[in-house]
Amino acid sequence: VTSTTATSVKTTCPYCGVGCGVNLSLPSASMDALPPVSGDLDHPANFGRLCVKGSSLAQTIQSDDRLLTPRVNGQPVVWASAIETVSAKISQVIKEHGPNAFAFYLSGQILTEDYYVANKLAKGFIGTANVDTNSRLCMASAVVGYKRAFGSDTVPCNYEDLERCDLLIMVGSNAAWTHPILYQRIAAAKKQRPAMKIVVIDPRETATCDIADLHLAIKPGSDAAIFSFLLQYSSQADILDGDFIAHHTNGFADALAQAHESTPTLSATAAFCGVSEQDLASLARWWCDTPNTVTFYSQGVNQSSSGVDKCNAIINCHLATGRIGKEGAGPFSITGQPNAMGGREVGGLANQLAAHMDFATPGAQELVQRFWQAPNMATENGLKAVDLFQAMEEGKVKVVWIMSTNPMVSLPDTAQVRRALEKCELVIVSDCKAHTDTTVMADVLFPATGWSEKDGTVTNSERRISRQRGLLPAPGDAKHDWWAICEVAKRLGYQSAFSYRNVHEIFAEHAALSAFENNGKRDFDIGHFSQITKAEYDALTPVQWPVPKGRPEGTKRMFEEGRFFTPDGRARFVPITPALPKNATSQEWPFMLNTGRVRDQWHTMTRTGDAASLAKHTAQPYVEIHPKDAKRLGIKDKTLVRLTSPYGEVLLKAKLSRAVAPTNVFAPIHWTQQFANASVVSNLIPQVVDPLSGQPESKHTPVQLEAV
Ligand code: SF4
Repeated sequence: VTSTTATSVKTTCPYCGVGCGVNLSLPSASMDALPPVSGDLDHPANFGRLCVKGSSLAQTIQSDDRLLTPRVNGQPVVWASAIETVSAKISQVIKEHGPNAFAFYLSGQILTEDYYVANKLAKGFIGTANVDTNSRLCMASAVVGYKRAFGSDTVPCNYEDLERCDLLIMVGSNAAWTHPILYQRIAAAKKQRPAMKIVVIDPRETATCDIADLHLAIKPGSDAAIFSFLLQYSSQADILDGDFIAHHTNGFADALAQAHESTPTLSATAAFCGVSEQDLASLARWWCDTPNTVTFYSQGVNQSSSGVDKCNAIINCHLATGRIGKEGAGPFSITGQPNAMGGREVGGLANQLAAHMDFATPGAQELVQRFWQAPNMATENGLKAVDLFQAMEEGKVKVVWIMSTNPMVSLPDTAQVRRALEKCELVIVSDCKAHTDTTVMADVLFPATGWSEKDGTVTNSERRISRQRGLLPAPGDAKHDWWAICEVAKRLGYQSAFSYRNVHEIFAEHAALSAFENNGKRDFDIGHFSQITKAEYDALTPVQWPVPKGRPEGTKRMFEEGRFFTPDGRARFVPITPALPKNATSQEWPFMLNTGRVRDQWHTMTRTGDAASLAKHTAQPYVEIHPKDAKRLGIKDKTLVRLTSPYGEVLLKAKLSRAVAPTNVFAPIHWTQQFANASVVSNLIPQVVDPLSGQPESKHTPVQLEAV
């Protein structure tokens, strides 16, 4: 199972949350040959398909810019010396300022086993919950939405539901470019069953609209009103599932009353959302006529100052009509990153404890403390990403260990991020690459192994745990992230708790914790693997959690019994008042900047930037501007435009396009100082976050435009 020959492995694509299976082989004897990469026919996420990013993985494996030795203050050192420098400083800072002066800033790119040991070290042994991650920019709002509704962070659906539904509502997602293999599966299902309806709700006309029966180009940020209206319309149209509401939920009357008050009529809702009454009526009619509906949502929903409410507005509609826990029906958030879900499983967010338990979960701290035999348990939530970097600038967090992410490009208000890292007494960065916008800020650099060298597990958007398997030897002195964390932990005095010899031992402990005193109380239970042998771990085939003892086949779909993880087992409706983005456009800042990805690049291009073929699709950073606005401002296609917000300015090439509405502009996020000086779009974005999830409002920034 692990390998098709002695020289190839089945592994997982390191890019998006689709989590496609990949066959990776050793290169041929030719010095110039790249390691062959192909889609894994046996993997249930992709059945052999790969998108252009996955197909180009071989080009990204060998990089001239690999970080090959540990460095302290720019000087190469041996690992022992770098570990000693880091652990001595962590000890000193904890002694002088307490455990909350230390923080991890992790990534949905690292593997579950890396995440597990980082979380254990911080929350059980150092005694701080300052463990946050770039998943805060990705899925934090969806997590809180699920918890409010289900009592747990549980994704109900699976990919087959996307193919089997009769109505698919895609909200805030350009899946054609961001989750291409899922999009291809959806497009194939639609081709096979043309009666299947697809609705796209997005301010922009994206490539995803190519297969849509209806595109609602809503006013930016108005998504929640659409679902608030659908809830009250479901009541008027008498399609509520009264039995489900009565026996499996609480709070329906309040949520319905709020929906009536917020979105009383079709015309008022259409006006609020900036769509035609006819289009909204079509959506409402299809919603009422189609019990098999999946609502698929991603960053356009999550990256908002009211992202959690948007998620709950969607979930409310599914609960009210009983469209959950059934084939082809349910609310389905799609994760951006390859292991955003795996990080959540181990507690890799500052407001989580471990194994889907929170600090507020009764008895959870004691349970985890007993399991870990932890001497210094954190007792309260740590700082979420934006708050964490603010605390660094204020001098409260003095040592930060950044792993496999590039916050100097990806976090909002990058000028603040720079000030924060400059203020820290020690910045440790673990990365494969020597030169990123963040590695240049580091005092200590740890060379990390890369995708083709690492072993462990990741979890994709449908709760499917897959093995990532290393095939190539680590170059230079590069080491696995889990190893570096354990070495620091041992130097801090925690030898026995961090004496893992390999990732198999970490995974088995992670599985045992998930099942520890669980008995079906918590959603995340992979207890079947708590006694897993190394050979079984090496042979692990993709499986969807929960995988409790006695159920090795895992769980395809959640909530089929109508039982949730709240204390009374009932789901919760949440009354929603739709809100627009926190910062509105004005005379001074008249354009609304939306951000996102292009088809062939990933995050801050530290990997895809190495593949020459991927640059062909979109070679340079750009900003999409409606032709009417461009004409008014004297901006010509392909000329330079200056975008300014109160936080900074960037220069981008104008791309005139009717895909954006007048007064809206769109810019991709990928380019860094390394690739295009003065084009880091996050420079413009304020640190406005959802108050519940802490997720930044990256899609709604008022800006000015001018021709250069
Ligand atoms: Fe990789 Fe996502 Fe493309 Fe699949 S769809 S090959 S996981 S980038």
